[in-house]
Amino acid sequence: MNFTFTKQEEAFRLELRSWLEENLPDGWKAGNRELPRDKGEYSKFLRQWQRTLYEGGWAAISWPKAYGGREATLMEEIIYHQEMVRIQSPPLVNYVGIHMVAPTLMQMGTEEQKRNFIEKILTGEHVWSQGYSEPNAGSDLTAIETTAVKDGGKWVINGQKVWTSFAHVSDFCFLLAKTGQSEKKHEGITVFLLDMNQPGVETRPIIQMDGKQEFNEVYLTDAIAYDSDVVGEVGKGWAVLIALMLHERSGIAAQVFTLERQFDDLVEMAKQVKIDGVPLVEDPIVRNKMAGLYARIRGALLTYYRNITHTLKNGRPGPESSLDKLLVSELTKELFEFAIAIQDHHGVMTEEDAISNKSWQEGYLSSFGVTIGGGTSEVQRNTIGERILGLPKDLGR
Ligand SMILES: Cc1cc2nc3c(=O)[nH]c(=O)nc-3n(C[C@H](O)[C@H](O)[C@H](O)COP(=O)(O)OP(=O)(O)OC[C@H]3O[C@@H](n4cnc5c(N)ncnc54)[C@H](O)[C@@H]3O)c2cc1C
Repeated sequence: MNFTFTKQEEAFRLELRSWLEENLPDGWKAGNRELPRDKGEYSKFLRQWQRTLYEGGWAAISWPKAYGGREATLMEEIIYHQEMVRIQSPPLVNYVGIHMVAPTLMQMGTEEQKRNFIEKILTGEHVWSQGYSEPNAGSDLTAIETTAVKDGGKWVINGQKVWTSFAHVSDFCFLLAKTGQSEKKHEGITVFLLDMNQPGVETRPIIQMDGKQEFNEVYLTDAIAYDSDVVGEVGKGWAVLIALMLHERSGIAAQVFTLERQFDDLVEMAKQVKIDGVPLVEDPIVRNKMAGLYARIRGALLTYYRNITHTLKNGRPGPESSLDKLLVSELTKELFEFAIAIQDHHGVMTEEDAISNKSWQEGYLSSFGVTIGGGTSEVQRNTIGERILGLPKDLGR
């Protein structure tokens, strides 16, 4: 891969940079990056930010122009993520809609689904969640127990989903349900575009250990969907799910760049914070550990670039994205663990006594979820072993 960006790519970077300077929410650039805690205000703030991105033409840059995107190249996507991370822009409330649901509908949806949903995903009018995981099915989604039964002209859906990110602010859910039994475990599963605003859908918040609420339990009691809400074929939802997962590539990119920024923040914190009068950064053990972390983060970045090169050559992402996911999530966890450890006894404090600011403590608590969401580290290792190294499948499967 050529590591130098072309003049055209640098012009793209400058265009985005100056747009961000003018359009970031009030107070954001000055460092006031607190999101509202109230559910209604939180949703309003983030939907407004997506609307601003949409109006500026920056909501979904890799989408085809026909659907309101810019048909950005992979290199432009990388630049986009670098700049968003550099300026620490607000998160994208409709991440699932933009990066996963809409591209899947463009590929496999009916004309009616495209017409009804894609533009509203882009503008932020419809926010989406993903309803895959259940109490007995996370890593193995073939074990889902939620059922959808045909009753005349409608589907009646019953079951429970768990860890559904953004369900509390969602309008629709990309939902997996069993619609039949089959000898083959990947068959008999169907994807529905479920309207969340109906009596049969109850969303209960799960409060995380960092005090935030980003995911939920979703209870489905005679919830209703129609034939027009089925994506692809009834019973063949697995193919839809695989297509959706391949669209996750740009999300993985963002994580590598976030990790780089977190390392820079770590260095800054270690320069400013003193323990017994000595800045942390002058401690030889701290320096040694930071040098090791830096080398491995650089390695993760280069591995990511190598995988991107592979994607560019093949025209589609391959199992290599499991390497990126594994490296970045494990390094993120290690970085926050180290940051808390070097803060001495202040590391356990989160309020006014906390060293520097409490973002290290919050980041530490949420770093555990990073190695689980989107596929656990063990599952990524299986994929790397089986699909990259060509090792035999594990005995249980
Ligand atoms: C921050 C976050 C956000 C999430 N957002 C969503 C969302 O929006 N929508 C959604 O549907 N889900 C979401 N999830 C759920 C997530 O996808 C699941 O938690 C994850 O896939 C693991 O499934 P599980 O919890 O059922 O664990 P299990 O699958 O029961 O795994 C338990 C343990 O066994 C290990 N294990 C399982 N199978 C194997 C194997 N074959 N080989 C080796 N080890 C194995 C796992 O690695 C893990 O350590 C989210 C989770 C988190 C943490």
